[in-house]
Amino acid sequence: MILIDGKAVAKKIRENLKDRVQDLKNKGIKPKLAVIMVGNDKASSIYVKNKSKACNELGIEFEEFFKDDSISQKELIDLIKELNDRKDVHGILLQSPIPNNLDIREAFNTIDYRKDVDGFNPINVGKLSIGEDSFISCTPYGVIKLLEEYNIEVQGKNAVVIGRSNIVGKPLVQCLLNKDATVTICHSKTENIKEITKNADILIAALGKPKFITADMVKEGAVVIDVGINRCEDGKLVGDVDFNNVSEKASYITPVPGGVGPMTIAMLMNNVVKAASMNN
Ligand code: NAP
Repeated sequence: MILIDGKAVAKKIRENLKDRVQDLKNKGIKPKLAVIMVGNDKASSIYVKNKSKACNELGIEFEEFFKDDSISQKELIDLIKELNDRKDVHGILLQSPIPNNLDIREAFNTIDYRKDVDGFNPINVGKLSIGEDSFISCTPYGVIKLLEEYNIEVQGKNAVVIGRSNIVGKPLVQCLLNKDATVTICHSKTENIKEITKNADILIAALGKPKFITADMVKEGAVVIDVGINRCEDGKLVGDVDFNNVSEKASYITPVPGGVGPMTIAMLMNNVVKAASMNN
Protein backbone atom coordinates (compact mmCIF):
# COMPACT_ATOMS: atom_id res chain seq x y z
CA MET A 1 0.00 0.00 0.00
CA ILE A 2 1.27 3.45 -0.88
CA LEU A 3 0.33 6.36 1.33
CA ILE A 4 -0.46 9.44 -0.74
CA ASP A 5 1.35 12.35 0.86
CA GLY A 6 -0.79 15.39 0.14
CA LYS A 7 1.37 17.58 2.33
CA ALA A 8 4.48 16.89 0.26
CA VAL A 9 2.67 17.30 -3.07
CA ALA A 10 1.10 20.56 -1.92
CA LYS A 11 4.52 21.83 -0.82
CA LYS A 12 5.99 21.02 -4.22
CA ILE A 13 3.14 22.84 -5.98
CA ARG A 14 3.64 25.89 -3.75
CA GLU A 15 7.39 25.90 -4.46
CA ASN A 16 6.71 25.90 -8.23
CA LEU A 17 4.17 28.68 -7.80
CA LYS A 18 6.75 30.83 -6.00
CA ASP A 19 8.80 30.90 -9.20
CA ARG A 20 5.74 31.72 -11.31
CA VAL A 21 4.82 34.59 -8.96
CA GLN A 22 8.35 35.94 -9.29
CA ASP A 23 8.15 35.70 -13.10
CA LEU A 24 4.89 37.68 -13.03
CA LYS A 25 6.43 40.29 -10.75
CA ASN A 26 9.37 40.62 -13.12
CA LYS A 27 6.81 41.53 -15.77
CA GLY A 28 5.27 44.13 -13.46
CA ILE A 29 2.25 42.00 -12.48
CA LYS A 30 1.58 41.63 -8.77
CA PRO A 31 -0.88 38.74 -8.28
CA LYS A 32 -3.59 39.65 -5.79
CA LEU A 33 -6.39 37.69 -4.10
CA ALA A 34 -9.36 39.51 -2.58
CA VAL A 35 -11.35 37.61 0.04
CA ILE A 36 -14.77 38.64 1.28
CA MET A 37 -15.99 37.26 4.57
CA VAL A 38 -19.43 38.07 5.99
CA GLY A 39 -20.16 37.60 9.70
CA ASN A 40 -17.82 36.04 12.23
CA ASP A 41 -18.00 32.30 11.75
CA LYS A 42 -15.06 30.88 13.72
CA ALA A 43 -14.07 28.17 11.25
CA SER A 44 -14.27 30.66 8.36
CA SER A 45 -11.93 33.05 10.18
CA ILE A 46 -9.36 30.26 10.44
CA TYR A 47 -9.76 29.38 6.74
CA VAL A 48 -9.31 33.04 5.74
CA LYS A 49 -6.23 33.31 7.95
CA ASN A 50 -4.75 30.18 6.34
CA LYS A 51 -5.40 31.57 2.88
CA SER A 52 -3.73 34.84 3.84
CA LYS A 53 -0.72 32.94 5.18
CA ALA A 54 -0.42 30.86 2.01
CA CYS A 55 -0.56 34.03 -0.12
CA ASN A 56 2.11 35.66 2.04
CA GLU A 57 4.43 32.70 1.65
CA LEU A 58 4.22 32.89 -2.13
CA GLY A 59 4.41 36.67 -2.42
CA ILE A 60 0.79 36.94 -3.54
CA GLU A 61 -0.95 40.10 -2.32
CA PHE A 62 -3.97 39.54 -0.14
CA GLU A 63 -6.77 41.97 0.62
CA GLU A 64 -9.56 41.00 2.98
CA PHE A 65 -13.01 42.49 3.30
CA PHE A 66 -14.58 41.60 6.63
CA LYS A 67 -18.23 42.59 6.52
CA ASP A 68 -20.70 42.66 9.33
CA ASP A 69 -23.62 40.25 8.96
CA SER A 70 -25.91 43.25 8.63
CA ILE A 71 -24.56 43.80 5.09
CA SER A 72 -27.38 43.89 2.50
CA GLN A 73 -27.47 41.76 -0.62
CA LYS A 74 -27.04 44.91 -2.71
CA GLU A 75 -23.97 46.00 -0.74
CA LEU A 76 -22.43 42.55 -1.17
CA ILE A 77 -23.13 42.49 -4.90
CA ASP A 78 -21.79 46.06 -5.27
CA LEU A 79 -18.57 45.07 -3.49
CA ILE A 80 -18.10 42.10 -5.84
CA LYS A 81 -18.74 44.33 -8.86
CA GLU A 82 -16.19 46.85 -7.58
CA LEU A 83 -13.61 44.05 -7.24
CA ASN A 84 -14.52 42.76 -10.71
CA ASP A 85 -13.61 46.20 -12.07
CA ARG A 86 -10.35 46.59 -10.14
CA LYS A 87 -7.36 45.93 -12.38
CA ASP A 88 -5.08 45.13 -9.42
CA VAL A 89 -7.32 42.29 -8.18
CA HIS A 90 -6.88 38.99 -10.03
CA GLY A 91 -8.80 36.55 -7.87
CA ILE A 92 -12.01 37.03 -5.87
CA LEU A 93 -13.18 34.60 -3.24
CA LEU A 94 -16.35 34.77 -1.18
CA GLN A 95 -15.85 32.72 1.97
CA SER A 96 -18.84 30.51 2.72
CA PRO A 97 -21.05 30.18 4.65
CA ILE A 98 -22.64 33.62 4.59
CA PRO A 99 -25.76 34.54 6.60
CA ASN A 100 -28.94 32.81 5.39
CA ASN A 101 -30.70 36.04 4.48
CA LEU A 102 -28.14 36.61 1.72
CA ASP A 103 -28.29 34.88 -1.65
CA ILE A 104 -24.89 33.19 -2.04
CA ARG A 105 -25.72 31.87 -5.52
CA GLU A 106 -26.33 35.38 -6.85
CA ALA A 107 -23.05 36.43 -5.22
CA PHE A 108 -21.06 33.59 -6.83
CA ASN A 109 -22.73 34.30 -10.16
CA THR A 110 -21.64 37.95 -9.93
CA ILE A 111 -17.93 37.16 -9.55
CA ASP A 112 -16.32 37.70 -12.96
CA TYR A 113 -15.59 34.19 -14.26
CA ARG A 114 -12.03 35.32 -15.10
CA LYS A 115 -11.45 36.09 -11.39
CA ASP A 116 -13.48 33.15 -10.06
CA VAL A 117 -10.59 31.29 -8.39
CA ASP A 118 -13.02 28.98 -6.53
CA GLY A 119 -14.56 27.82 -9.81
CA PHE A 120 -18.13 28.29 -8.56
CA ASN A 121 -19.40 30.64 -11.30
CA PRO A 122 -21.71 28.78 -13.73
CA ILE A 123 -19.49 29.81 -16.65
CA ASN A 124 -16.58 27.90 -15.12
CA VAL A 125 -18.83 25.00 -14.13
CA GLY A 126 -20.11 24.87 -17.73
CA LYS A 127 -16.63 25.13 -19.24
CA LEU A 128 -15.47 22.23 -17.06
CA SER A 129 -18.44 20.14 -18.16
CA ILE A 130 -17.60 20.59 -21.85
CA GLY A 131 -13.89 20.03 -21.23
CA GLU A 132 -12.76 23.62 -21.83
CA ASP A 133 -10.03 25.31 -19.83
CA SER A 134 -11.64 26.81 -16.72
CA PHE A 135 -11.13 27.51 -13.05
CA ILE A 136 -11.78 24.22 -11.27
CA SER A 137 -13.06 24.07 -7.71
CA CYS A 138 -9.95 23.68 -5.54
CA THR A 139 -10.67 20.44 -3.66
CA PRO A 140 -11.61 18.32 -6.71
CA TYR A 141 -8.72 19.89 -8.59
CA GLY A 142 -6.44 18.86 -5.71
CA VAL A 143 -7.69 15.27 -5.90
CA ILE A 144 -6.93 15.14 -9.62
CA LYS A 145 -3.43 16.57 -9.03
CA LEU A 146 -2.75 13.87 -6.42
CA LEU A 147 -3.75 11.15 -8.90
CA GLU A 148 -1.50 12.75 -11.52
CA GLU A 149 1.41 13.16 -9.15
CA TYR A 150 1.31 9.45 -8.23
CA ASN A 151 0.88 8.43 -11.92
CA ILE A 152 -2.37 6.69 -11.13
CA GLU A 153 -4.05 5.60 -14.35
CA VAL A 154 -7.57 7.01 -14.63
CA GLN A 155 -8.46 6.30 -18.24
CA GLY A 156 -10.89 3.40 -18.57
CA LYS A 157 -11.03 2.81 -14.81
CA ASN A 158 -14.19 2.50 -12.77
CA ALA A 159 -14.24 5.59 -10.58
CA VAL A 160 -16.89 5.91 -7.90
CA VAL A 161 -17.50 9.25 -6.19
CA ILE A 162 -19.62 9.37 -3.06
CA GLY A 163 -21.14 12.82 -2.61
CA ARG A 164 -22.70 15.15 -5.19
CA SER A 165 -22.14 18.61 -3.76
CA ASN A 166 -21.55 21.47 -6.16
CA ILE A 167 -18.13 22.17 -4.65
CA VAL A 168 -16.69 18.66 -4.44
CA GLY A 169 -18.65 15.70 -5.83
CA LYS A 170 -20.03 17.11 -9.07
CA PRO A 171 -16.87 18.87 -10.31
CA LEU A 172 -14.85 15.79 -9.38
CA VAL A 173 -17.12 13.66 -11.56
CA GLN A 174 -16.54 16.05 -14.47
CA CYS A 175 -12.77 16.00 -13.95
CA LEU A 176 -12.70 12.20 -13.91
CA LEU A 177 -14.93 12.02 -16.97
CA ASN A 178 -12.62 14.45 -18.78
CA LYS A 179 -9.82 12.00 -17.99
CA ASP A 180 -11.80 9.13 -19.54
CA ALA A 181 -12.78 7.28 -16.38
CA THR A 182 -16.09 5.43 -16.23
CA VAL A 183 -17.72 7.35 -13.43
CA THR A 184 -20.50 6.48 -10.99
CA ILE A 185 -21.75 9.05 -8.50
CA CYS A 186 -23.47 8.01 -5.29
CA HIS A 187 -25.47 10.13 -2.85
CA SER A 188 -27.74 9.80 0.14
CA LYS A 189 -30.54 8.22 -1.91
CA THR A 190 -28.30 5.62 -3.60
CA GLU A 191 -29.37 2.05 -2.90
CA ASN A 192 -26.93 -0.84 -2.30
CA ILE A 193 -23.95 1.49 -2.16
CA LYS A 194 -21.61 -1.35 -1.21
CA GLU A 195 -22.34 -3.20 -4.47
CA ILE A 196 -21.24 -0.06 -6.33
CA THR A 197 -18.16 0.77 -4.27
CA LYS A 198 -16.90 -2.83 -4.50
CA ASN A 199 -16.48 -2.33 -8.24
CA ALA A 200 -14.44 0.84 -7.89
CA ASP A 201 -10.86 0.89 -9.11
CA ILE A 202 -10.75 4.44 -7.78
CA LEU A 203 -13.02 5.19 -4.83
CA ILE A 204 -13.45 8.78 -3.68
CA ALA A 205 -15.36 9.51 -0.50
CA ALA A 206 -16.71 13.05 -0.14
CA LEU A 207 -19.78 12.75 2.01
CA GLY A 208 -18.79 13.98 5.45
CA LYS A 209 -19.59 10.83 7.45
CA PRO A 210 -16.78 9.57 9.72
CA LYS A 211 -15.37 6.16 8.72
CA PHE A 212 -18.32 5.50 6.37
CA ILE A 213 -16.17 3.46 3.95
CA THR A 214 -15.32 0.16 5.59
CA ALA A 215 -12.99 -2.55 4.26
CA ASP A 216 -15.87 -4.75 3.03
CA MET A 217 -16.95 -1.92 0.67
CA VAL A 218 -13.55 -1.77 -1.04
CA LYS A 219 -12.11 -3.87 -3.86
CA GLU A 220 -8.69 -5.40 -3.29
CA GLY A 221 -6.06 -3.06 -4.77
CA ALA A 222 -8.37 -0.05 -5.16
CA VAL A 223 -7.13 3.54 -5.01
CA VAL A 224 -8.95 5.21 -2.11
CA ILE A 225 -9.15 8.98 -1.82
CA ASP A 226 -10.68 10.43 1.33
CA VAL A 227 -11.98 13.97 0.99
CA GLY A 228 -13.95 13.93 4.24
CA ILE A 229 -12.95 16.05 7.20
CA ASN A 230 -14.90 15.21 10.35
CA ARG A 231 -14.08 16.40 13.83
CA CYS A 232 -14.59 13.78 16.56
CA GLU A 233 -15.72 14.60 20.08
CA ASP A 234 -12.11 14.35 21.29
CA GLY A 235 -11.17 17.05 18.75
CA LYS A 236 -9.34 14.65 16.41
CA LEU A 237 -9.91 14.82 12.66
CA VAL A 238 -11.09 11.71 10.84
CA GLY A 239 -12.00 11.13 7.24
CA ASP A 240 -14.91 9.35 5.59
CA VAL A 241 -12.79 6.19 5.30
CA ASP A 242 -12.01 3.67 8.03
CA PHE A 243 -8.31 4.17 7.34
CA ASN A 244 -6.79 1.39 9.47
CA ASN A 245 -8.82 -1.41 7.90
CA VAL A 246 -9.19 -0.04 4.38
CA SER A 247 -5.45 0.63 4.05
CA GLU A 248 -4.86 -3.14 4.25
CA LYS A 249 -6.80 -3.59 1.01
CA ALA A 250 -6.01 -0.42 -0.92
CA SER A 251 -3.11 -0.01 -3.36
CA TYR A 252 -3.01 3.75 -2.66
CA ILE A 253 -4.77 5.69 0.07
CA THR A 254 -4.86 9.26 1.38
CA PRO A 255 -4.65 9.90 5.12
CA VAL A 256 -6.74 12.45 7.04
CA PRO A 257 -5.22 14.84 7.88
CA GLY A 258 -2.38 15.23 5.37
CA GLY A 259 -4.08 13.89 2.25
CA VAL A 260 -6.53 15.96 0.24
CA GLY A 261 -6.73 18.77 2.81
CA PRO A 262 -3.39 20.51 2.07
CA MET A 263 -4.10 20.31 -1.66
CA THR A 264 -7.11 22.60 -1.48
CA ILE A 265 -5.14 25.74 -0.55
CA ALA A 266 -2.33 24.82 -2.94
CA MET A 267 -4.82 24.65 -5.82
CA LEU A 268 -6.38 27.94 -4.74
CA MET A 269 -2.94 29.54 -4.98
CA ASN A 270 -2.51 27.88 -8.37
CA ASN A 271 -5.80 29.41 -9.52
CA VAL A 272 -4.80 32.89 -8.33
CA VAL A 273 -1.52 32.68 -10.25
CA LYS A 274 -3.42 31.42 -13.30
CA ALA A 275 -5.86 34.34 -13.04
CA ALA A 276 -3.00 36.82 -12.77
CA SER A 277 -1.27 35.27 -15.79
CA MET A 278 -4.45 35.40 -17.87
CA ASN A 279 -5.81 38.79 -17.02
CA ASN A 280 -2.85 41.04 -17.58
P1 NAP B 1 -22.05 18.30 1.47
O1 NAP B 1 -22.37 19.51 0.69
O2 NAP B 1 -22.69 18.06 2.81
O3 NAP B 1 -22.40 17.04 0.54
C1 NAP B 1 -22.35 15.73 1.03
C2 NAP B 1 -22.75 14.78 -0.06
O4 NAP B 1 -22.68 13.46 0.47
C3 NAP B 1 -24.20 14.97 -0.56
O5 NAP B 1 -24.24 14.85 -1.96
C4 NAP B 1 -24.96 13.83 0.11
O6 NAP B 1 -26.04 13.34 -0.64
C5 NAP B 1 -23.88 12.78 0.24
N1 NAP B 1 -24.16 11.88 1.34
C6 NAP B 1 -24.44 12.21 2.62
N2 NAP B 1 -24.68 11.10 3.36
C7 NAP B 1 -24.54 10.06 2.52
C8 NAP B 1 -24.66 8.65 2.67
N3 NAP B 1 -24.97 8.11 3.86
N4 NAP B 1 -24.45 7.87 1.61
C9 NAP B 1 -24.12 8.41 0.41
N5 NAP B 1 -24.00 9.74 0.19
C10 NAP B 1 -24.21 10.54 1.24
O7 NAP B 1 -20.50 18.15 1.73
P2 NAP B 1 -19.24 18.69 0.88
O8 NAP B 1 -19.10 20.15 1.07
O9 NAP B 1 -19.25 18.10 -0.48
O10 NAP B 1 -18.06 18.01 1.73
C11 NAP B 1 -17.95 16.60 1.86
C12 NAP B 1 -16.85 16.27 2.85
O11 NAP B 1 -15.63 16.77 2.34
C13 NAP B 1 -17.02 16.92 4.22
O12 NAP B 1 -16.48 16.07 5.20
C14 NAP B 1 -16.17 18.17 4.13
O13 NAP B 1 -15.69 18.60 5.39
C15 NAP B 1 -15.04 17.67 3.28
N6 NAP B 1 -14.37 18.73 2.52
C16 NAP B 1 -13.03 18.70 2.54
C17 NAP B 1 -12.32 19.63 1.85
C18 NAP B 1 -10.83 19.57 1.86
O14 NAP B 1 -10.17 20.58 1.68
N7 NAP B 1 -10.26 18.38 2.05
C19 NAP B 1 -12.96 20.63 1.13
C20 NAP B 1 -14.36 20.62 1.08
C21 NAP B 1 -15.04 19.65 1.79
P3 NAP B 1 -27.35 14.21 -1.02
O15 NAP B 1 -26.91 15.10 -2.16
O16 NAP B 1 -28.33 13.19 -1.45
O17 NAP B 1 -27.72 14.96 0.21
